[in-house]
Amino acid sequence: MQFSGAFGPSRKLRSRAKLLPEYARAHNRSLVLQTLYHAGQVSRADLARETGLTRVTISDLVAELIADEIVKEIGVREASGPGKPATLIDIDRNGHQIIGIDMSGSTRFEGAVMNLDGEVVTRDAVERPPGEDGDATFAVMIELARRLIAASDKPILGVGIGTQGVVSADGAVLSSPNLGWQGLPLRARTSIELDLPVIVGNDANAAVLAEYTFGGARSDFMLIKVGRGVGAGLITGGQPLTGSRFAAGEIGHVVVGTDGGPRCVCGRDGCLEAWLNVGRLSAAIEERPEARDEILRDAGARMAIGIAPIVAALDLSDIVLSGPADLLDDIFLRAAVDTLHARTLDGVFSDITIHRTEQPDIVLRGAAVMVLAGQLGIS
Ligand SMILES: [Zn+2]
Repeated sequence: MQFSGAFGPSRKLRSRAKLLPEYARAHNRSLVLQTLYHAGQVSRADLARETGLTRVTISDLVAELIADEIVKEIGVREASGPGKPATLIDIDRNGHQIIGIDMSGSTRFEGAVMNLDGEVVTRDAVERPPGEDGDATFAVMIELARRLIAASDKPILGVGIGTQGVVSADGAVLSSPNLGWQGLPLRARTSIELDLPVIVGNDANAAVLAEYTFGGARSDFMLIKVGRGVGAGLITGGQPLTGSRFAAGEIGHVVVGTDGGPRCVCGRDGCLEAWLNVGRLSAAIEERPEARDEILRDAGARMAIGIAPIVAALDLSDIVLSGPADLLDDIFLRAAVDTLHARTLDGVFSDITIHRTEQPDIVLRGAAVMVLAGQLGIS
């Protein structure tokens, strides 16, 4: 093998090309919005200091954002010395609304009108059509979106959809057997139907964004969503991980162990999803109530066996679970963390934590984060 240099063919991690002026402006605009969103109520001078942009640039951008009704002046700060008191500005958090749709439920699709903080203003839901009829599923989702749009009372920033399945960067659902969708350009079709900007993401990827933005998660963690199926979303180095096939976090059909296991919907035995899905765990406990603790201990241990290599490969700090509290309880969590410790390098991964998310409506809030990111560059 021939190498062109001492370290082999070179490969840049990041482009160092200079930004074109129009991109620089868009970048600065989202930098200002991002700073304002998380800091809240600051002066233009504070913003200049925080962002490193000049006072003139900040003044220009803020004027533009006020004209767009995304930012508003909210009063003056108490003067602490001589001179003109500073005018405080903030994102107009109730000036626009976001429509969120959660398609992860096994019997219903949930939806909400939210403010820009991801707080639910109004909620609604529709029954999921029986079977895997992709057209009926799409029609029902559109009906839910239309009802939410009718219920909103502010301009709509965009519609965010968290769906089951593998979702490409342009919002096509490449594969979702559960919903009967294969290669469906969901973002494009929904946007035409509703005449609004639409952002589509996988439900677990939406949930991990909500946890990162609104929860206390650190910058390297995995969120595992346990429901009818099992899926995960990953944040590494503060960035969502999507992977080469947009399938990062598709851990549900990884076979865990070499000892067989329950038959999975995909036809194999012992997939993580076959061990952990809510239907199986609930049925097993109903059948043998006296063995409840043992069933949950086994499930927690099995999950940890499945994720230990991921924790080590990515050096994750936390695992966050989203799912029913009566199953993912202390017994489950303790078994999972003990197994994880037993299977990863002692002294390196011993402080890893596993806990359940405290966020309600995690997929809906994640859909709001997707819209904030897509429309305003806020994350
Ligand atoms: Zn499977």
